[in-house]
Amino acid sequence: MLKIMVLMALAGMFASAAELRVIAFGAHPDDCEGRFGGTAARWAKAGAAVKFVSVTNGDAGHQEMGGAALARRRYAEAQEAARRLGIAEYEVMNNHDGELMPTLEARRQIIRAIRQWKADIVLAPRPNDYHPDHRYTGILIQDAAYMVVVPNIVPESPALRRNPVFMYYEDNFQKPAPFRPDVVVSIDDAWQTKMDGMDAHVTACTLTIGARPAASTERVAHEEARGPGFHGRARGVGETLRGRSGTEDPARGSI
Ligand SMILES: [Zn+2]
Repeated sequence: MLKIMVLMALAGMFASAAELRVIAFGAHPDDCEGRFGGTAARWAKAGAAVKFVSVTNGDAGHQEMGGAALARRRYAEAQEAARRLGIAEYEVMNNHDGELMPTLEARRQIIRAIRQWKADIVLAPRPNDYHPDHRYTGILIQDAAYMVVVPNIVPESPALRRNPVFMYYEDNFQKPAPFRPDVVVSIDDAWQTKMDGMDAHVTACTLTIGARPAASTERVAHEEARGPGFHGRARGVGETLRGRSGTEDPARGSI
């Protein structure tokens, strides 16, 4: 019943998104685009305030470059991606790539970001990934999910009065449980915008495919070769999302 109510609320928001505030977290600059770029572009176009957050600065995400020079370049690429997708903001947190840990300080960073954005919807990866940065990003958002409404936690940042809806991106991990979508958003008419946003991350492309720049379409083909359902297909392209089980909302119960 509650799941149906969430879906109805999301559908209603999509029809008239002017008041909707969305914050999407990824471990690295370009992670949000791959999982959520099309839906983000659609929501932004409909008037929603959409923000991406990269929890690390991406300073290890290249075969040859590294350190502060790479972090600055990836920050610039993230801003260009935001411009292409039409989203309001792209924050890159100053945590080292490849070294993210689910610390109390990192949790506080996440709590502040969700509160300051006054988020209605929060998106994050499931904490099942082989990559520690992806896994700990999922854990950090999970650990912040209730705390954003507790005033004595990070007291300098005013607590939210209403807990946002927390959702997972689609993934292919089978353990501890396969991903099952609750929401599927068609992105046929935002597909090219999503590709343009991904293409802004020139340095990230070289790590995925090899030591040379690669277009987003090639990256998508590469990812799809690893398993079905990563980006949808040429016809009826969609992005799928799942409500975060176990998230408690004092007003609405468990999602
Ligand atoms: Zn990543």
